Amino acid sequence: MSNAAVEAIVLPDKPVEECGVFGIYGAGLDVAKLTYYGLYALQHRGQESAGIAVANGQRVELQKGMGLVAEVFTGHSLDKLTGHVAIGHVRYSTTGGSQPLNAQPLVFRYAKGMIGLAHNGNLTNVGELRSQLAYSGSVFQSSTDSEVLVNLIARYNANSLEEALMKCMIDVKGAYSLLVITEDSLYAARDPHGFRPLCLGRLGQGYVVASESCALTTVGATFIRDLEPGEIIRIDGDGLSSTQGLRAKNPAHCIFEYIYFARPDSTMDGFNVNRVRREMGRQLAREYQVEADIVIPVPDSGVAAARGYAEEAGIPFEEGLMKNRYIGRTFIQPTQQMREIGVRLKLNAIREVLEGKRVVMVDDSIVRGTTSQKLVAMLREAGAKEVHLCISSPPVLRSCYYGIDTSDEQELIAAQKPLEEIRKTIQADGLHYLSKDGLLDIFAPKQNCFCTACFDGSYPVEIPKSKDGGKYILE
Ligand code: SF4
Repeated sequence: MSNAAVEAIVLPDKPVEECGVFGIYGAGLDVAKLTYYGLYALQHRGQESAGIAVANGQRVELQKGMGLVAEVFTGHSLDKLTGHVAIGHVRYSTTGGSQPLNAQPLVFRYAKGMIGLAHNGNLTNVGELRSQLAYSGSVFQSSTDSEVLVNLIARYNANSLEEALMKCMIDVKGAYSLLVITEDSLYAARDPHGFRPLCLGRLGQGYVVASESCALTTVGATFIRDLEPGEIIRIDGDGLSSTQGLRAKNPAHCIFEYIYFARPDSTMDGFNVNRVRREMGRQLAREYQVEADIVIPVPDSGVAAARGYAEEAGIPFEEGLMKNRYIGRTFIQPTQQMREIGVRLKLNAIREVLEGKRVVMVDDSIVRGTTSQKLVAMLREAGAKEVHLCISSPPVLRSCYYGIDTSDEQELIAAQKPLEEIRKTIQADGLHYLSKDGLLDIFAPKQNCFCTACFDGSYPVEIPKSKDGGKYILE
């Protein structure tokens, strides 16, 4: 199980990832097994369900279920999936509930044959599209926004699937990195802002498309490039072709992918995640100088930033919190009364490192603040003299509507309290968030190519208006 996955369960005070997609085309390749390994590498992007659809020129076979990749595909279950093209999906439910019908890929039979779809991201106008489709006779099996996409593609596929994808891109708003499978071809598309990552690689004579480059390297593929915002690619017996489906808008890649979600060994849109996190730490040290004896990370996502901070500040880097790497999804969740245990199960302080020390603790983000408060208390109990908390992202003030579960604004501590009150609440001696400018400078000269809406409310795509004041409800 991935670190982020464990954090999301044991420290329910973190944003939660969205989904991961993986697709492969290649005669002679064991596409089902390679997709399984690719999904394994993307497990941190979703732990609720997993699925693989494989096409063999005649039909599309599907296997999916609830749970982790290793729980859904056991024994010889993959042996039945044979063919030369496959798509796979791991899911965390950002829309639609956590139930088997909502697991992806979604596979349907329609006038032109069979079609399957795997989607990462959230559509922002899905309510409107869904009612239009429902009034014109469409029926829905699931409560996901992804089924709206399949419906539109099937409806628009008069001449070619690329044309259908292009028309679909005109109708839908929001974030989508998509994979589509037919009986003999693989298609991939990225929304015109490029919110969610999607990259292309080469494996022998075949091609691989995945949410993150770590999945390409896991299966032995060579990274070729990221898909451009608004691009559609088709891979079939004639090779690979690319079309600009919709004119690219200002790029708005999700900056939170770099802060927390993506794997450090992934490189997305030209930036390696580990390097970015280290730079965030260096920048934090330039912005917040404090007399301290050691710098410690909140493992694992705070490690690279803590190293960067320590290097820049010239303060020794130490591991002051030990992480239990063996907590699985199935462990019994602590009750309200036993919340303390939840954090201690995941992280424990090392007295020998912390006793009598002035500590800078580096974490990637604060959502509700409950975990930070417990960690500060834990360090003090272990003898830390001072605890300064440095956060390698700006304060999270607004909700995300593009595929990340950041909690409601009422639950976001930074949206509710000024800095000094947050510091008092978590009982730290000092608290500093990375400035937005400091964060964006790391991406120079591409600092205008990122979505920062959860920090500043400037949403690149209009957000849904709903009955309950902005919260996006599909069901
Ligand atoms: Fe990413 Fe935040 Fe933008 Fe959502 S609002 S896409 S989490 S940067």
